[in-house]
Amino acid sequence: MTKKIIVLPGDGIGAEIIGSAQEVLEKVAEIYGHQFEFEQHDIGGAAYDKYGEPLTDATVDACLNADAILLGAIGGPKYDTLPTAVRPEQGLLKIRKALNLYANIRPIKGFVPLLHASPLKESVISGSDIYVVRELTGGLYFGTPRERREDGNVVVDTLLYHRNEIERIVEKGFESARLRNKHLTSVDKANVLESSRMWREIVEEKKADYPDVTVEHMLVDSAAMKLITNPTHFDVIVTENLFGDILSDEGSVLTGSIGMLPSASLSDSIGLYEPIHGSAPDIAGKGIANPLGMILSAAMMLRYSFGLNKEAEVIELAVEQSLEAGFYTADLDIKNGKKVGTKEMTEEVIRHIR
Ligand code: NAD
Repeated sequence: MTKKIIVLPGDGIGAEIIGSAQEVLEKVAEIYGHQFEFEQHDIGGAAYDKYGEPLTDATVDACLNADAILLGAIGGPKYDTLPTAVRPEQGLLKIRKALNLYANIRPIKGFVPLLHASPLKESVISGSDIYVVRELTGGLYFGTPRERREDGNVVVDTLLYHRNEIERIVEKGFESARLRNKHLTSVDKANVLESSRMWREIVEEKKADYPDVTVEHMLVDSAAMKLITNPTHFDVIVTENLFGDILSDEGSVLTGSIGMLPSASLSDSIGLYEPIHGSAPDIAGKGIANPLGMILSAAMMLRYSFGLNKEAEVIELAVEQSLEAGFYTADLDIKNGKKVGTKEMTEEVIRHIR
């Protein structure tokens, strides 16, 4: 199989870990007879430094003509004082909108050797395996107006959803539950928000099409609590943009480190794959970033964009075996294990793939 992959390293540790994913993919390609062609472009602060904007139209066009996209992370203190329109985050928002990446999939699954490193009790998190389906191109992050008024003393953000935007993500939630343990938790704030009341109506309408899936509605405050007190309760969570952002970061504590978690952002025709963490300026340039969330994102790309399930499983197994062998990065902790940097961790995963 020959595929063209756009690589967007971005900023900070993004640029350090993206190479790990490429090396792993090259090894998989060599073993299984595929050809992955990588084409690198800038996004975030790196693009601002070169072009004065966080994502150029040329990069968007390249993404639209590719088979999939891998992204590291964007942002950093150097860019914090820039005007909103050219901040690195705008590059991310622009690519999501331009490629219509409306479904963000975040699997949250703990690896056994890391369970003890979670601040939560091992007995609570053991066996948790959650799949968050987050709406990514609507809601508060995109609604307008978004502005300061009355000399900056009044502020307006807009939470806007069209019915079809909710319908398609709810369908993704049901379809995902159908492929897993057939339990869907729809998270909203229907006791307060009108958008949540419409969300709940749509879930109720759609459930007739998925009689094999059990559905529950849960308020976001209650879901936030249950996620850390009883995470094994959940199978698939479907929710809107802001709630999904917060809940999936909260869920990362189940895995021991935010550096472990991959994600996929999907349209109906293309996928962008990135770890859920940011550019980690506090550790950037030290060679100690955990590359596993990035590598697992590459595995998701093989599965979702290319249908290469076996190859994806081989990568996931290699990550698990590397941890079982005791290798860990500075953000993790394994008793009697060996602390290594980004490069060594990547080499260890590749060794297991071999
Ligand atoms: P962050 O995820 O970058 O870092 C949070 C903490 O987790 C830090 O202590 C960091 O060292 C650690 N960490 C994160 N990933 C790690 C990894 N792979 N290995 C080891 N440790 C890791 O979040 P932040 O500090 O709030 O944000 C830093 C910058 O990243 C900001 O500019 C923010 O806007 C940006 N950001 C970007 C994205 C993205 O690119 N998708 C997401 C979140 C934040």
